[in-house]
Amino acid sequence: MKKYIMALDQGTTSSRSIIFDKAGNIISVVQREFPQIFPKEGWVEHDPMAIWSTQIAACTEALTKIGGEWDEIYGIGITNQRETVVVWDRKTGVPVYNAIVWQCRRTADYCKELKDRGLTELIRNKTGLLLDPYFSASKVAWILDNVEGAREKAECGELCFGTIDTWLMWKLSGGKVHATDYTNASRTMLFNIHTLEWDKELLELFGIPESILPEVKPSSGIFGYSDAKILGAEIAIGGVAGDQQAALFGQCCFNPGDLKNTYGTGAFLLMNIGEKPQITDSGLVTTIAWGIDGKVNYALEGSVFVCGAAIQWLRDGMRVIESAADSEYYAKKVPDSGGVLVVPAFQGLGAPYWDPYARGIIIGITRATNKYHLIRATLESMAYQTADVIELMEKSTGIKVEGLMVDGGASANDLLLSFQSDILGTSVNRPECIETTALGAAYLCGLATGVYESTDDIKNNRRIGATFEPTKDSAWRDEKMATWKKAVSRCLAWKE
Ligand code: ADP
Repeated sequence: MKKYIMALDQGTTSSRSIIFDKAGNIISVVQREFPQIFPKEGWVEHDPMAIWSTQIAACTEALTKIGGEWDEIYGIGITNQRETVVVWDRKTGVPVYNAIVWQCRRTADYCKELKDRGLTELIRNKTGLLLDPYFSASKVAWILDNVEGAREKAECGELCFGTIDTWLMWKLSGGKVHATDYTNASRTMLFNIHTLEWDKELLELFGIPESILPEVKPSSGIFGYSDAKILGAEIAIGGVAGDQQAALFGQCCFNPGDLKNTYGTGAFLLMNIGEKPQITDSGLVTTIAWGIDGKVNYALEGSVFVCGAAIQWLRDGMRVIESAADSEYYAKKVPDSGGVLVVPAFQGLGAPYWDPYARGIIIGITRATNKYHLIRATLESMAYQTADVIELMEKSTGIKVEGLMVDGGASANDLLLSFQSDILGTSVNRPECIETTALGAAYLCGLATGVYESTDDIKNNRRIGATFEPTKDSAWRDEKMATWKKAVSRCLAWKE
């Protein structure tokens, strides 16, 4: 009897497998870390075989742990670290080089060269993305240009390229499936998000032969089956999406204007903008949210570089807290930040300021300032930065945000969410299950394998764990945001 869905959540530092029941409850979780490889400053790689072996081990162990059988599994949903690339030999399945990870900056000069050639707008208009090493295209080009014999092999159709979802499907299916979904394709910088096809002009620009590309499919649908020799059974692979898009789906943000924020090391905000892509030059990225039933939904995406990382700084750098969770306990010892603001511009600032030369500041200190104020102000900075991105999204789309769904490690902090609600003037909702990324992959798979009839069906599963409602008026909000912006203005262009 089938009763579960298996989600593979392949992240930047670990591979996890989570088994969900139909109601979206977690039945089993197994997580395996794998090594990070830093060959040079600014370079980040993973061993694709380590990704695969940790993922498959997590898969079988998750099932074994509950004494489950494969015939109890409806299907597999995959969600993954985005933009990371693998290139492998079509015949042997052996990677020609390590995976080049999204964080890797090795192609910064190459991207700058393209920028100087005036290609920013062309790329933005076709892909919705910023011309940056972050996305896959320049990483694939680097492998073809720098691995001996790779280009010749690629031209002869002997190589395959894939983002991590594609690599996992290839391995799972014993080399039968070479495919990706719309969300992952939309992060490669080679995919035209209007025509929903690989873009010939961009392929030529980056020097990438079409033969190495995977087939692009809807995020929910049968991609193929696992090979019985590998997994012990033929299980349908029924859903695939990049991690942030999967979280948007897992949060049931199915309607235009629905928005989620993931408070992790950094913060990732995605807003569903409906079935038409909207390209902006505000620094927000336009991306595919998912493709289901012949339709595609788009999203605007904005990120904050330093979010939970500011709490790590309080813990490891300033040593004013012992654990991240302590931040709430101490912050509650004072009624407010006592006029102190922290702008954690440790690596410059992203949207809406876009200043790589900004550096962090603590401002508004008086003789009355104590460590609780500092901790509270640091927590508040996470909410202010989120509010900045949301303001930009509202401006770019004309959509007024009504309600924010939240997840990620720091969303456990009630004081943060309560302040977030006050500063936005809208409700903030934390679901019971904050494993929204894996849940999104499971839902996409559940739709394809008949577990759910529609997104309405999935919405019935949604259980909100906590809701935070605003307690302040708009005058308070305006004054607070103005003070925040003033603080930010003091830290801009510091390193110039
Ligand atoms: P990532 O996936 O980016 O590694 P997580 O979603 O696991 O991040 O969240 C971890 C981050 O959240 C860390 O930066 C940590 O400092 C922060 N964090 C965790 N718990 C809390 C908390 N209770 N209050 C504030 N920040 C927290």
